Amino acid sequence: EAHKESHGFQTEAKQLLHLMIHSLYSNKEIFLRELVSNASDAADKLRFEALSKPELLEEDPDLRIRIEFDKDEGTISITDNGIGMSRDEVIENLGTIARSGTASFMQNLTGDQKKDAHLIGQFGVGFYSAFIVADRVEVFTRRAGADADQGVHWECSGEAEYTVENVEWPKRGTRVVLHLKDDAKEFADGWRLRSIIKKYSDHIAIPVEMLKEEAPVAEGEEEKESKAPEFEAVNAAQALWTRSRSDIKSEEYREFYKHIAHDFDDPLTWSHNRVEGKLDYTSLLYIPSRAPFDLYQRDAARGLKLYVQRTFIMDDAEQFLPLYLRFVKGVLDSNDLPLNVSREILQKDRNTDAIKSALTKRVLDMLGKLASKDADEYQKFWDLFGNVIKEGPAEDFSNKEKIAKLLRFSSTHTDEPKQDQSLEDYVGRMQEGQKYIYYVCADNFATAKSSPYLEVFRKKGIEVLLLTDQIDEWFVGHMTEFDGKPFQDVAKGALDLGEAESDEDKAEREKVEEQAGALVERVKEVLKNRVEEVRATTRLVDSPACLVVSEQDMGPQMRRILEQAGQ
Ligand code: ADP
Ligand code: MG
Repeated sequence: EAHKESHGFQTEAKQLLHLMIHSLYSNKEIFLRELVSNASDAADKLRFEALSKPELLEEDPDLRIRIEFDKDEGTISITDNGIGMSRDEVIENLGTIARSGTASFMQNLTGDQKKDAHLIGQFGVGFYSAFIVADRVEVFTRRAGADADQGVHWECSGEAEYTVENVEWPKRGTRVVLHLKDDAKEFADGWRLRSIIKKYSDHIAIPVEMLKEEAPVAEGEEEKESKAPEFEAVNAAQALWTRSRSDIKSEEYREFYKHIAHDFDDPLTWSHNRVEGKLDYTSLLYIPSRAPFDLYQRDAARGLKLYVQRTFIMDDAEQFLPLYLRFVKGVLDSNDLPLNVSREILQKDRNTDAIKSALTKRVLDMLGKLASKDADEYQKFWDLFGNVIKEGPAEDFSNKEKIAKLLRFSSTHTDEPKQDQSLEDYVGRMQEGQKYIYYVCADNFATAKSSPYLEVFRKKGIEVLLLTDQIDEWFVGHMTEFDGKPFQDVAKGALDLGEAESDEDKAEREKVEEQAGALVERVKEVLKNRVEEVRATTRLVDSPACLVVSEQDMGPQMRRILEQAGQ
């Protein structure tokens, strides 16, 4: 029995759909990229399931995607023979958005279509992009392994609801039928579709096919008997990462990124490598040009798309990169791991750690290269992900030196909030005899910049890093030193400007200490139980007094973090 039902979309899905219909006009043709991307994912998933159930592939082993169109009807269909969906999966996958944090993310929507279109880009567009060009979308699908009467027909022609019913469907896989809007009828055209496929989907690993264009029958020539329609591949149909670097155009790398990262924007940079020898794998790693909304969400999906000998195994394999590189997207294709590898096996396999450590270096080197090649592009990266990189020194002691070189800071050298000074820059500007890398931590740039602790440093022309991110105090605690120079909080402990203290300065300090002796005793008496120690100092120029925490104490930022955590 067909059992036709109407369903409402989940609130977030509805919002996304609404935006798709009303905001994403600038680049309509991406609908095809998204639907082909899904069809390709469906083929990957089927191949993976067939590893343990080969019968799933048997009667139709050649995985492919077919694009057909009907100019008169104004329709386009995208058909795959991949994994397909059950009725429940259709409702789950096409009626809801499962990614956690979506609801709160959607609250950022402004109603301003331009801004919102930008936001969904960050979110990934996906299946609903069909509604950019279609006012009615139908999906016919049958889960691999299910019987012919388990086909499902999904249909939606508005923002409010969709219907699902069971139908007879002859084969496994999914067919998406787009009934084009009047202003999108132009897409029902062979030449147009072919060029869009070439442009966005050339890298798809299985054939994306269209009907062969028939040669027009010349006059006088007899029309041959009609044959079965013949399809031909329009794309290159080879997994991109298996090709040699020199054969791949930047544009192809970019489109491949959008497919695997489910991103809307171009990546900032990438690194494609084949490794042979003790380990045998290919990796293609990308740095996104935009931070995902769930970058700081603990349960957010992260990691690489894992293939073993070209066969897709899993999305979001998080074992191959440390947490502080969680923004990296990409593909790992291993020849060492077993085809039946699971997350549990991965955790134990000794190849995993070896690959992880190699990929970590690869990413750090890629970033280092970007920094030296293109400071502006690197600055974009730092502004997006700098705070995540700062988790690095604590998590990954072995690469501390490499990470340190990637850091960028705001400092008294520029006195600007922009974090664009490297530690190498700082060290290069250190004064004769200066032993420490000085920093001050504060809640915001204005406070840091006008900190009384800086007075003496400004007077002496010694540069101080201005640390104003929440993570900074914790992070700098793990940095400890760079290039043999220890980090020193200017607000902590006795101020030792090292050799930078000239004889003259020393004489002045001793004079001040002597002169202030009586005052110090008096203040000590008054503040007896409230402070540990009272000292005369030359660290201030204009301010009469300042509070200093001792070397071992937590700084104010750290204290606040712990307070917030209820400690
Ligand atoms: P994403 O691809 O980022 O997961 P989409 O919105 O593109 O998000 O697709 C939503 C989900 O619908 C997919 O994750 C998949 O489970 C399902 N889906 C979409 N298209 C297909 C298809 N052709 N075959 C099987 N499942 C599909
Ligand atoms: Mg998708």
